[in-house]
Amino acid sequence: MDEFELIARCFAPLGGAADDVVLGIGDDAAVLAVPPGQTLAVAVDTLVSGVHFPPAIAPADLGFRLAAVNLSDLAAMGARPRWATLALTLPAADEAFVTGFAQGLGEALQPYRVCLVGGDTTRGPLTVSLQLMGLLERPALTRAGARAGDVVAVSGTLGDARAALDLLELDEPDEDARYLLARYFRPTARVALGLALGPLAHAAIDVSDGLVADLGHIARASGVAIDVELERLPLSPALARRCSRAGALAHAAGGGDDYELAVCVPPTAWPAARAAAVQLGVALTAIGQVTAGAGVRCHDAAGNDRAGDLAGYRHF
Ligand code: ADP
Ligand code: MG
Repeated sequence: MDEFELIARCFAPLGGAADDVVLGIGDDAAVLAVPPGQTLAVAVDTLVSGVHFPPAIAPADLGFRLAAVNLSDLAAMGARPRWATLALTLPAADEAFVTGFAQGLGEALQPYRVCLVGGDTTRGPLTVSLQLMGLLERPALTRAGARAGDVVAVSGTLGDARAALDLLELDEPDEDARYLLARYFRPTARVALGLALGPLAHAAIDVSDGLVADLGHIARASGVAIDVELERLPLSPALARRCSRAGALAHAAGGGDDYELAVCVPPTAWPAARAAAVQLGVALTAIGQVTAGAGVRCHDAAGNDRAGDLAGYRHF
C-alpha cells in the first residue's frame, strides 16, 4: 500500500461531515466557513520522537496526545475546537503505526466533533504536527488580562505527568503508576471548562511547561505578580501515595505536561466559576492570588517563601 492509500484509508474517516467544511481532505487545500460574527483561533504543536515523547510510545497514545496538547491550547483561549490539519513525517509508511495513530487521534478529537480537513505526509525521522482551528463567539481568554485581586485557580491535579516520566521503564506498573502514566500519555484537555470560564476569567493558560513557569507567562503578559500557596496545589491520590509530600509539591509546581488550565478570576466571578466547574465535574482549586508587582512567588500558609525547597527539585 502506498502512502496515499494509507492516508485515504486511515484519515478520511476523521474528516467528518459538517456544514462548516466546504471542502475537506482530497484537494489542494481545505475550505472552511467561519460563521459571521465569530473569529478563528489557531494553534499548532509538533511532537518529535525522542524529544517530546519516548520512541517506544504506542501509536494510539501518540495520536491521542498530539490532539490533546492542541485541544488544550484552544481550551486556554476559551475557543471551541472545529477543524484540524495533520503533518506527518514517518520513517516508513508503516500501516500498523498509521492505523493506531489515526485511532488515538480520532479518539481525542471525536468528543468535540473536530473535522480533519487536510494535511501532509512526508518521509523522515518520526515527527507529528497538528494544527487545530477553533471558533470564538466572544473575545479570547488571553494571558494578558490578569488584575491584582484576582483569584488564581487550577483545574484537576498537578504533577502527575512529571511523576510519570520516572515510571516509563517499569515493566509491571501498579495501579497508581498506570494512572500517572495515563495522565502523561492521555491528558484530558479542559475544553468545556475553558468555554465556561471564557466569560468569567480575566486570563488563562494551559499548564504545559510547569505551573510556576506558565503562571510566569501570565504575570509577564499582564504586568502583575502572582502569589501561590504551595500547600494548596491539588494532588492526585496516586501522586500523593507515590511521592513524598515535598516531592509531590515540587512536581506539581515545576513539572510540565499536565495540560490543566490555570486561570485568574475576579473575586466577584469566583463563585460562578466554581459552580461552572462543579457542573462539569472538573475540580477547580484556588491556589493563590494576583497582586501588584512582577514574577511568581511560592509561599506557605504563614507567608514564608518556599522557592528554596523547590530549587532542589528544579525541573527546567
Ligand atoms: P498536495 O501535493 O497538493 O499538497 P498531497 O498529495 O500532499 O497534496 O495530499 C493530498 C490530499 O491529502 C490533500 O487534501 C491533503 O490535505 C491530504 N493529506 C495528505 N496527508 C494527510 C494527512 N497526514 N492527514 C490528512 N490529510 C492528508
Ligand atoms: Mg501536500
